[in-house]
Amino acid sequence: MSAMTPAHQMFLQAFMARGLLNSKEVKDLFRKSLELNDVQVPESEEERKRQLVKFIRTISDHVSPFHLDIRKGVSEDDGTNFYCLVNNVENHITKMASDYSSSELDFFKKLVEQIVENDGAIGSTAALNIVTQDKKLTKNDAQDLLLRLENDRWIMQKEGKVSLSIRSILELDQYIQDVYPDSVKKCNVCKQICLKGQMCEDCGVKIHIHCAIRFFHRQENPRCPDQDCGAQWTHPVPSPSKSHIATSEARQAASQSSERPERQTRKRRLDA
Ligand SMILES: [Zn+2]
Ligand SMILES: [Zn+2]
Repeated sequence: MSAMTPAHQMFLQAFMARGLLNSKEVKDLFRKSLELNDVQVPESEEERKRQLVKFIRTISDHVSPFHLDIRKGVSEDDGTNFYCLVNNVENHITKMASDYSSSELDFFKKLVEQIVENDGAIGSTAALNIVTQDKKLTKNDAQDLLLRLENDRWIMQKEGKVSLSIRSILELDQYIQDVYPDSVKKCNVCKQICLKGQMCEDCGVKIHIHCAIRFFHRQENPRCPDQDCGAQWTHPVPSPSKSHIATSEARQAASQSSERPERQTRKRRLDA
């Protein structure tokens, strides 16, 4: 295993403080960590990419004894790549428990449930109404809590809708699959959990929007990717825009993570 240099340590510290970085932030932090430690930044983009992969692998090797894992994921909203430092053994809540009270965690758990059962997003009023079920929190408490969860990058609030951020999807994937096996589907293209996406009306196959763009790109008459189905794909597929463009990076991430052997399925319980 390659040794950690001061540049690796600087990168890791900043990464741990943030928890989640998009690929641009990763590249910027990589450059900064090298420059501040007088390490030459490779000039060619190709070489920089190669070095970055190696750099991240070294950090990964060093944090894995602490059950930390650098995982790459793609945002369900705009197809952006993210890197997340996740706790891969202990239920993620061990980490959250120090930041949230038990009634706040109960609220979050119910919020996750509603989001999973409602195709990846619920209205903010519905989110606030969760408190009326057990009355441990007031609606004002819930409003503050939603903001804190958003600042901690567990959820996103946009256009009156609350959904899970890529951080939650990466850290809670096993929990979601264990607890909601009937509600959650995996994307037929990238094989990752798919909360928001398009669904085949015939067979129920679901795919992410960014995967649909990639999959149906150049297909004049899009059909369901399920081989036994092949029904006409009735959803409008956006044309590849900059934010949705299927980069080789995203493809690689998707195939890497789908090849990843099933992680040991220690039950993750939010209320543990
Ligand atoms: Zn997908
Ligand atoms: Zn189908």
